[in-house]
Amino acid sequence: MKTFYQLSKEEVINQLQTSFSGLRNEAVPALREKFGENTLQEAKQKSKLSILLGQLNDTMIIILIIAAGISFFVGEHTDGLVIIAIIIANAWMGYAQESKAEESIKMLKKMAAQFALVMRDNKPVKIEANKLVPGDVILLEAGGIVPADARLIEVSAFKTDEASLTGESYSVEKTIEAISKDNLVPGDQHNMVFKGTMVSNGSAKAIVTAIGMNTEIGKIAGLLDVGLQKTPLQKRLAVFSKQLAVIVILICVIVFALGLWRGEPAFQMFLTALSLAVAALPEALPAVITIALARGAARMVKQKALIRKLPAVETLGSVTYICTDKTGTLTQNVMTVEKMQAANNNEELLEYAMLLNNEVSASENNELFGDSTETALVYYALKDGYTKEEADAKYPLLLKLPFDSSRMRMSTLHKNGDKWILFTKGAPVKMVAVLSEKYKNSIQEWLNVNKEWAKDGLRVLFFAYKVFDQEPGKLDVSLEKDMNFLGITAMIDPPREEVIDAIRQCKTAGIKTMMITGDQPLTAKAIAERLEIINEGGEAKTGMDLDKLGEEDFKNSVKEIFVYARVSPEQKLNIVKALQSNGEFVAMTGDGVNDAPSLKQADIGLAMGITGTDVAKEASDMILLDDNFATIVKAVKEGRRIYENIRKFILYVLSCNLSEILTLFFAPFLGFAIPLLPIHILWINLVTDGLPGIALVAEPAEEGIMNRPPRPPKENLFAGGLIVKIIFSAIVLTLSAIFIQWWAVRQGYDVKTQQTMVFTTLCFVQLGNALSVRSVYHSLFSKGIFANKGMWGTVVLTVILQLLIVYIPFLQPVFKTTTLNSNAIQIISLVSLASLLCIELMKYLSNKIGKAYGTKKD
Ligand code: ATP
Repeated sequence: MKTFYQLSKEEVINQLQTSFSGLRNEAVPALREKFGENTLQEAKQKSKLSILLGQLNDTMIIILIIAAGISFFVGEHTDGLVIIAIIIANAWMGYAQESKAEESIKMLKKMAAQFALVMRDNKPVKIEANKLVPGDVILLEAGGIVPADARLIEVSAFKTDEASLTGESYSVEKTIEAISKDNLVPGDQHNMVFKGTMVSNGSAKAIVTAIGMNTEIGKIAGLLDVGLQKTPLQKRLAVFSKQLAVIVILICVIVFALGLWRGEPAFQMFLTALSLAVAALPEALPAVITIALARGAARMVKQKALIRKLPAVETLGSVTYICTDKTGTLTQNVMTVEKMQAANNNEELLEYAMLLNNEVSASENNELFGDSTETALVYYALKDGYTKEEADAKYPLLLKLPFDSSRMRMSTLHKNGDKWILFTKGAPVKMVAVLSEKYKNSIQEWLNVNKEWAKDGLRVLFFAYKVFDQEPGKLDVSLEKDMNFLGITAMIDPPREEVIDAIRQCKTAGIKTMMITGDQPLTAKAIAERLEIINEGGEAKTGMDLDKLGEEDFKNSVKEIFVYARVSPEQKLNIVKALQSNGEFVAMTGDGVNDAPSLKQADIGLAMGITGTDVAKEASDMILLDDNFATIVKAVKEGRRIYENIRKFILYVLSCNLSEILTLFFAPFLGFAIPLLPIHILWINLVTDGLPGIALVAEPAEEGIMNRPPRPPKENLFAGGLIVKIIFSAIVLTLSAIFIQWWAVRQGYDVKTQQTMVFTTLCFVQLGNALSVRSVYHSLFSKGIFANKGMWGTVVLTVILQLLIVYIPFLQPVFKTTTLNSNAIQIISLVSLASLLCIELMKYLSNKIGKAYGTKKD
C-alpha cells in the first residue's frame, strides 16, 4: 500500500475523507473519538501516592521511624505514638505543599500549550494543537512548530528545520508533488512535514496524516522526561545540607556522650540526640525552595508572566539589563494606518497592494488574523471601500515570498489579465535597494517624507510593483529588482501607558533598559524619548554601525547606547554577548524564528505570548502572556521577593535550629538538668518552625525592593552577613532559654517545670523571631506589620497550641509538660519580648552599619 508521500494531494484528500477547505465541524468529534489526543506520551507524572511515599523516604524520617520502633520496644509507648503522630503530620504537610507545587507546575505546562491554525468549515480557527485530528487542514508559518505529521498541499518558499527528528540541522526545502520511491526515511519525504520540527521559512498548507504517538516523533520519542528542574540554588543547598549534616551529627554524638557521662538515662539521651538531629538538619530546605519557586511561578502567571524554566524565578532578581523589542512590548501593537501617499496618482494600485501584499486571513465574522502591520494596511483599504473579493478577482494570487526580519520586505506575485504583477513592500531603506535606476535621484524626496514621518514615531513602509509580460517563473529574491515606486504608508503604534512607570522603576532598581528594534532609527528614537529610555537628543545606533566596530569597541560602545535600530537577529545575538562579556545579567525579549539564538544566549530569554512564534517560546525561559514590557518589571520584582523570602526562611529555620542545639549543649555545663525532652524538640521542629516557615515564603515584597541594585547572580546565598545574623539570633534565643531555666532553678521548680518553661520559652521566642525575620530592612513595628495575614494566623495558632499542650491535663503526660503558674508565664512573656527587641536592635544596627559602608541602599 502506498504511503502518504507517494499519493497525490487529491488521493490524500480522498483517503482521509476531508477537503481542501478543511474538515466539517460535525466530523471532528467522531475522529477525535477514533484517534484520541494529539499528544506524546509523557513519563508518568508523580502520582499522589508517590508524592506521599516520597515524604517517608527521607533519612531523617527513617531515623524517626526507627526511634519510634525502639520506643515501643523499651516500653515507652507514649513516646513511640507521639513520634509516629509527628511523622504522619510532617509527611502530610510535606505532601500538601509538594502536591500544590506539582499542581502549579502542571498548570504552567498546560498554559504553555501549543496552538495550531486549522481550517474548519472553510474558515481558519486557532485551536490547541492537541485537539488536531487526521484530515485537518493546517496552516503553517515561519517560526511555528509543526503540530502533527502532515502532507503538504500548498507551499510558498517553505522550509523546515528537522533537526529534532533527523539530527540534520539545515533547512529542508519542501514541495507538494508526490514522490514515487518506496520506503523513504522521513528526512527524504520532501512533501511531508513532521510533528515537532520547526518552520524556518515561508508558509504552507498541509493535511494532517498522523497525530500523537503515531507520528514519526511519537514512534521514536518513547517517554519524554518531565521532572522538576533543579535550580542552581537547590543544588548549592543540597551540598550545604550535606556539610551541615556532618556537623550536626557530630554535635549530637557529643550531646549523647555528655548526657551519659552526667548519668542521664541512656534511652532518653539516645532519643534526645536523635530528635536533635531531626530538628537541626535542614533536609527540607531544597524542597522548601522548590515549593517557593513553583508557587512563585504560579503567582507570576496571574501577572501574565508564564515561567517555562523554574530556575528563572530565582535568577530574575539579578537582571541588570532588559533588552526589549519595541513593537508590541513598549508599544500597544495596535497599528493604525494614519496616512498614505501614492506616487504618480497611483492611489488605486497602492490600495490594492495594501489589500493583497500580506499573509492576513479573515475568520467567519471578518476578524482579521495576521501580523498587526499587515492587518492595519488591510483595514485601511477596506475602510476606503475596496473589497478583498474585488482585489482577488482583479489580481489573483499566484505566489508569495513571505516577510523575514533580515530582508525586511515581502512580495506577492499576481496575475493581472494577460500580464503578471509583483507587489513588494518593506522598510524604506531596504526598498530603495530594489527600485529601478530611474529613481536614483527622485527617491530622495520620498526619503525626506519618510524622515519627517518617522520623527513623529510613525512606522513607515514603502511599496513598489513590477509588471511582467511573461510568466516570471519561480518567485525568489532575485525578482525583487528594477521595481517601480508605488507609494508610502505611515502607521502609528502608540506607546503603552504603563511602560513609562515601569522604565522609571527599572532606573531606581539599577536595571538598564535597552530598546532593540527592527524599525528605523528615527522612529525608534522618537518612541524611546517618549518612554524616557533616552533623553531628548540621545543617540541611537543601527545594526550596521555595530558591524563596523571591532570586538573591543563593540564591547565598549554597547555600554553607552540604549537604542538600537535596524538590528538583525544576528546582531541582536552579538549585543547580548557583548553585554554579558561586560559582566551584565541580561534579559532579552524575542518573537521571531530568528530570535531563538539570542533568547537562548540571554540569561533570561523572554518570548512574546501573543505575537511570539512557537520557536521563540520554545527557546525562552519565560513567556510574556501580554507581550508587555511592564510585565517583565513585575516579574523581576517578584523574583527579588521570592529570593529574599527564601533567605528569610533560611535565617529563621537555621537560627531556631541552632538555638535548640546550643541550649541542649550548654545547659548541662551550667549544672542544669536536661532542658528539653525529645518530644519538645520534635514539637518545636514541626509546629513552631514549620507553620510560620511556610507563611514566611508568602511574605509580600518589602517596601523599597525595587530601590536596591540587583543581586550579583553568583552571590552566595549567605552573603550580606546572613551567617552572622543566624548565629546572633541563635545566641539571643539560647540566652533566653537558659535564663529561664536559671530563673526556674532559683525558684526551686522541679525539673519537669523547668523543662516546660524552657520548651514554652523557645516556642515563643521563635515566634518573635519569625515576626522579626519578615523584614530584612524595616522594623517589625513599622508599617506593613499586619501585611502577612497568614503569618499572624500561624503565630496565634501556634501560641494556642502551645498553651493547650501545657494546660490541658490529658495532653500533659503525652507532651511531658506540667501546668505553669502565672509568675512563670509572665517571666516567659517578658523574656520573649526582650529577645524580640534584641533581634530588632540587631537588625537596626546591621542596617546602619551596612549603610555606613555603602553595602545597602534604601
Ligand atoms: P521590533 O523589532 O521592535 O518588534 P519591528 O516590528 O519594526 O520592531 P521587524 O518585525 O523585524 O521589527 O521589522 C523590521 C522592519 O521591516 C520594520 O520596521 C518594517 O519597516 C518592515 N516590516 C515589518 N513588517 C513587515 C511586513 N509585514 N511586510 C513588509 N515589511 C515589514
